[in-house]
Amino acid sequence: MTNSELFDSLDANSFYIEGADITDTKAPQVPIERRWEERRFRARLVNPANRRKLDVIIVGTGLAGSSAAATLGEAGYNVTCFCYQDSPRRAHSIAAQGGINAAKNYRNDGDSIYRLFYDTVKGGDFRARESNVYRLAEVSVEIIDQCVAQGVPFAREYGGLLDNRSFGGVQVSRTFYARGQTGQQLLIGAYQAVERQIAAGTVEMHTRHEMLELIVVDGRARGVVIRDMVTGAIETHFADAVVLATGGYGNVFFLSTNAMGCNVTATWRAYRKGAYFANPCFTQIHPTCIPVSGDYQSKLTLMSESLRNDGRIWVPRSGEDKRDPRQIPEEDRDYYLERIYPSFGNLVPRDIASRAAKNVCDEGRGVGPGGLGVYLDFADAIERLGRQTVEAKYGNLFSMYAQITGEDPYAVPMRIYPAVHYTMGGLWVDYDLQSSIPGLYVTGEANFSDHGANRLGASALMQGLADGYFVLPNTINDYLADGPFPDVDDSHPAVVQAVESVRARIDKLLAVNGSRTVDSFHRELGRLMWDYCGMERSEEGLRKALARIRELKKEYWSDVRVLGTNEELNQALERAGRVADFFELGELMCIDALVRRESCGGHFRVESQTADGEALRDDDEFAYVSAWEFGGEDRRPILHKEPLLYEYVEMKQRSYK
Ligand SMILES: Cc1cc2nc3c(=O)[nH]c(=O)nc-3n(C[C@H](O)[C@H](O)[C@H](O)COP(=O)(O)OP(=O)(O)OC[C@H]3O[C@@H](n4cnc5c(N)ncnc54)[C@H](O)[C@@H]3O)c2cc1C
Repeated sequence: MTNSELFDSLDANSFYIEGADITDTKAPQVPIERRWEERRFRARLVNPANRRKLDVIIVGTGLAGSSAAATLGEAGYNVTCFCYQDSPRRAHSIAAQGGINAAKNYRNDGDSIYRLFYDTVKGGDFRARESNVYRLAEVSVEIIDQCVAQGVPFAREYGGLLDNRSFGGVQVSRTFYARGQTGQQLLIGAYQAVERQIAAGTVEMHTRHEMLELIVVDGRARGVVIRDMVTGAIETHFADAVVLATGGYGNVFFLSTNAMGCNVTATWRAYRKGAYFANPCFTQIHPTCIPVSGDYQSKLTLMSESLRNDGRIWVPRSGEDKRDPRQIPEEDRDYYLERIYPSFGNLVPRDIASRAAKNVCDEGRGVGPGGLGVYLDFADAIERLGRQTVEAKYGNLFSMYAQITGEDPYAVPMRIYPAVHYTMGGLWVDYDLQSSIPGLYVTGEANFSDHGANRLGASALMQGLADGYFVLPNTINDYLADGPFPDVDDSHPAVVQAVESVRARIDKLLAVNGSRTVDSFHRELGRLMWDYCGMERSEEGLRKALARIRELKKEYWSDVRVLGTNEELNQALERAGRVADFFELGELMCIDALVRRESCGGHFRVESQTADGEALRDDDEFAYVSAWEFGGEDRRPILHKEPLLYEYVEMKQRSYK
């Protein structure tokens, strides 16, 4: 029996073990609008003199990590921070383009904290926790004030107020932006705040250092094993608490809009040490990216969702119509989003816009090479607003498009297609952002918390900064109040074991000396994930993917070729470790997708759709967070379900029509 036949004959249950249900015990049982205040009040405090005696490790310097480092440093804790880039400012957050949400209601268009909460719960297709989402909406207004105080140059209107635009899945304008460089400007703000703490001596920064293992002593997260990426030295660092702010894992698909370095290693290592991994199959496919252009490509480029404010999406009515788009008259065009979803039009949420693009391409109406593209057209906007206005709003995005495609988007419609962009899954955390390992906190895209099965645009920056500036600094104290914890050093058996496992893995990767590059394996894994665990998933496809991933993983460990040594700057070695973790993660994603036999948000199971092809949830069976526990090497993972209760937003079939 081949691997593939064996898998076909197995019940989904044979891929995992069902564990006990879990709950989040940290959100106070008071009305939702009082929960965060109540939690902050109940959390134990650490007095300023004692904070100096407490050490916190933060891995990651993107918006989630830098904001946490700056705030905890300012509070007086000793913070040690790591990132693998050569500067904290190069974290992937810098790539964020379109904006950051906040319920300020500057436009007086009916926005409120409650509406942001409602939109996010609905946008996430009822697979996020109400308590967390409400807090996110509440804190959103403070983030903008904080960033303005730091000098972040948000776009302003003529009258001087901060300007806003709209993002998908909402009917108000609540997205604050700095042209198409919002992430960069926010990160410079957070970075300056960290630099200030570095100068003050409360934050110590280690760039070009990669965390390869978590150290758990007596059930608590107490440190990390780090590789100095320049010298190859393996180091240990200890603290009273560890924070992972290490971003998302979209690069498991090989091609994505994420920065090339984004990877899962930090959170995956923590998973293997006992931290639960939640909803790994919840991936966001972004509808507006520059289409794949060939096999040589290793990166995809996002065209910000903000473009959907003014750009109109269409395909020719007939698949036979191969005319230059400018020659196609209105009556021969299908503005399919405006047609199918008249209330939200081009601003439907990302999961819906992506699937609709796939559907029209599957019908043979896609444009460009291979028919995998749709038009994003600014002709109307340019006529209505003038080229100058369009240029002022989106100029850098237009020039990026022109540079990559060689086409002038002011003259010819852009061609776009969905691509992997964000991962809603991540390490499971409670309301305090603490993982299932005491002392291990997880912030930003690395945790699973607030976006359910589909993240609304401009809400990742909001969440990362909410976590780092406001939430974590008000919850981690409750844990640290029991510290300082007993000293740990290199002789502790748990530390010896952690260091040895890192060394053994590096040696093993270097020793294989096979015939295929790391990238060729990664590309093949990515293709499998895209074909079977991407925009559409089916029972049959997922089983096929699982069988092939397991085979490919074996081939990897016997045939990968990693040149060079550990004791030098060795990017092949860095990538080799990350891809090894992607194999394991890919497997868990497929199992998670297989078990969740419903469609919700970005998780579209072909077997579960409405008559008109929309995602069909099964709330009786699947209104839960899936929190996966590592079952051991080559053992089945254990599924813990955290039931989701909706007390405030009524669960119903989403409609954007
Ligand atoms: C092209 C693009 C545009 C986007 N635009 C928007 C937008 O307009 N609005 C919005 O809300 N969201 C946007 N997003 C999403 C958003 O940018 C990210 O979700 C967010 O920036 C993630 O921030 P983070 O701090 O969690 O992680 P990151 O910014 O990814 O930072 C991760 C950090 O962890 C470090 N790290 C990781 N692993 C290790 C390790 N093992 N050892 C040491 N260090 C490690 C890295 O060095 C880095 O410092 C966009 C995403 C993309 C791809």
